[in-house]
Amino acid sequence: MHDLEADVLSIVLLLFIFFDVRRFPLPKKDKGSIFFAELSVIYSIFLVISLLVYACTMKFMAFPMYVERSLWALHVISFPFMLLLWAHFNAINVIEDRRKVSIHTKILVAPLVALSALMIADIPHQHFFMFGRHHEHLPKILGSYLIITLSLLYCLAMILIVLINIKELPGSRLFLFMLTPSTLLISIVFFWYMHDHTQFTVVSSFLLILNYLIIHRDSVVVDTLTNLPTKSLFNRRLLKIFRLQLESTVIILDIENFRFFNKRYGRVIGDRMLAQVAEFLVSLEGRHETYRFDNDCFCICIPKSDRHMVEGLVQQIEERMQNSWQLDVNQVHIQINCAIIDIPEQASDYDEFKNAVDQLFIEIKSGRRENIIIYNRENSINQQKKLDIVSALRDSIRNPEQVKVYFQPIYNVNDSKMVSAEALMRIQDSNLGFLTPGEFIPIAEQTGLIIHLTEIVLSKVCTVINQLSKEKNTIDHISVNLSGEDFSSSAISKKLMNIISKEGVNPERIGFEITESMMLQSYEEVAKVIIEMSLKKVTFALDDFGKGYSNLQVLMELPYNYVKIDRSVIAKSTINPKMLTLLTEMLHKMEKQIVAEGVETEEELALIKRIGIERVQGYYFSKPLPEEEFLELVKRASNIVDRI
Ligand code: C2E
Ligand code: MG
Ligand code: MG
Repeated sequence: MHDLEADVLSIVLLLFIFFDVRRFPLPKKDKGSIFFAELSVIYSIFLVISLLVYACTMKFMAFPMYVERSLWALHVISFPFMLLLWAHFNAINVIEDRRKVSIHTKILVAPLVALSALMIADIPHQHFFMFGRHHEHLPKILGSYLIITLSLLYCLAMILIVLINIKELPGSRLFLFMLTPSTLLISIVFFWYMHDHTQFTVVSSFLLILNYLIIHRDSVVVDTLTNLPTKSLFNRRLLKIFRLQLESTVIILDIENFRFFNKRYGRVIGDRMLAQVAEFLVSLEGRHETYRFDNDCFCICIPKSDRHMVEGLVQQIEERMQNSWQLDVNQVHIQINCAIIDIPEQASDYDEFKNAVDQLFIEIKSGRRENIIIYNRENSINQQKKLDIVSALRDSIRNPEQVKVYFQPIYNVNDSKMVSAEALMRIQDSNLGFLTPGEFIPIAEQTGLIIHLTEIVLSKVCTVINQLSKEKNTIDHISVNLSGEDFSSSAISKKLMNIISKEGVNPERIGFEITESMMLQSYEEVAKVIIEMSLKKVTFALDDFGKGYSNLQVLMELPYNYVKIDRSVIAKSTINPKMLTLLTEMLHKMEKQIVAEGVETEEELALIKRIGIERVQGYYFSKPLPEEEFLELVKRASNIVDRI
């Protein structure tokens, strides 16, 4: 093969790569693949110069002497220049520390700059470098020796860098980055002896195509939505960190309530939001690697040497979250929770790391107040407690007698008559003792166990209603709380209705409470269930109203019967009752009945009476009571009414 054939073949090959990249773009955020593109462009220029020189030497073309000499100069210097680029490419992929890569490349650039200057100065004199149409190949003079020596040095430098970092290179990378300098070195030796750079061109093209294929193979593990490396690449990174005992800090970032965001704005905007967050995280100042860890979850890996940097990154993230994001016409706000794990202090192997992440996720999802949690030993104790709670919940599902239902009466404001009640779950565990909802509901929701617990509570409530049916003047209904997770199964209304009918209870005597935030998280599913079950006369109440986002769509569209105004709104209203008054008027116009939650004082009771709220629940009247006490209370109350 001749230079010309090798050049033409290589140009065809590069064109194929170019068209393929247009169809399947390379991962944009990866430095290695960005530089691969630059390398390919410069290699194309090298090939064009090579073709021009060939055309001059074959006398297909003629240029003025100075132009031809300059073309020769460019052609000859482009060998060490190409090798310098290969050396830089190798370094980017082999050396972790970007600072070290830049020092390495600066050291290699210096002799090339000196040689180029010497070469340009020599164009008129031709003391060191001889150019022109008479010299098809490198003449054996000083300039040629300098060019070849520098090229060989670059190859050796590449080999040296690979050898220094050999322990850190995984198999396929070691193969590729050892193969590159070795084959280039051989081609330069042949160039000198055979006076023919065909082999150099062939080797360069072969290496480019090999790198292209490997980058593409790796891009399979790059997330297409965010262009970030995926969890599997992060896991590989972690394995390396643990194998080489590298100190690192990992920040796990979770977008709060992203499910709700997707429901509200739709998947397309949701995807765009994730892409924007990813772009922001990549653009953060300081050396770090960002991965897409899960759906709405990212993680950043930082070398440990930089404690300040971790703080700096978290601060930049916090500051960004104070501002809105522009997505089409929408200006939206999101909240990101950060969890920080130091390696090896807090996780010395892969299993410990996974445990730490699980733990932090439980913390994040169980509705903490803080946005940043730093993993420490205390978390690990909490984690043990949480694992114990999970096993207590599993145990209670197998042994439903451990699930205790407490009942809190709800009264008519005007005549203080008990009209309904709310069922509130507790767990009686042989090891952990008595557990309150605050301790186990978030964990039950996170693990999905709440679905079974809801069924148990509902059937217990049905049993109580059946017992109360014997009383005259008894309460209208008892309500059961539902969680967002209950709606994860589409058959929820069928399941609940089955329990009610199996227990032989009139559906009118059962109510369900659904919080507003849950409604927003899964509006369609919840709406469907409410509509289906309301047709069977089951009562619905909107719980904790006024606590979170108040959404008019929810208020207007769904056929719930009661709105339970949150304790916090009632407590605030004793100072300024304006909002509660307006809210009551509005809800009455919508023909909803109102229950004031958490009424503790006479002052609060007087206020809700004055405003015209019809029902009340709270410690002022009664705390949640165990089943027997509650049954007693209802019986006594109905007897009193009976006697009147
Ligand atoms: P919730 O549905 O808003 O229930 C009312 C909560 O307020 C109950 O707390 C009740 O004891 C408390 N409360 C009632 N009156 C007063 C008062 O005057 N002052 C004060 N400080 N608190 C009062 P509890 O039983 O601890 O339940 C807390 C939350 O746990 C419930 O809030 C509900 O969201 C959830 N929960 C309870 N049982 C269940 C259940 O069976 N299933 C589901 N999914 N969630 C439940
Ligand atoms: Mg409730
Ligand atoms: Mg409530």
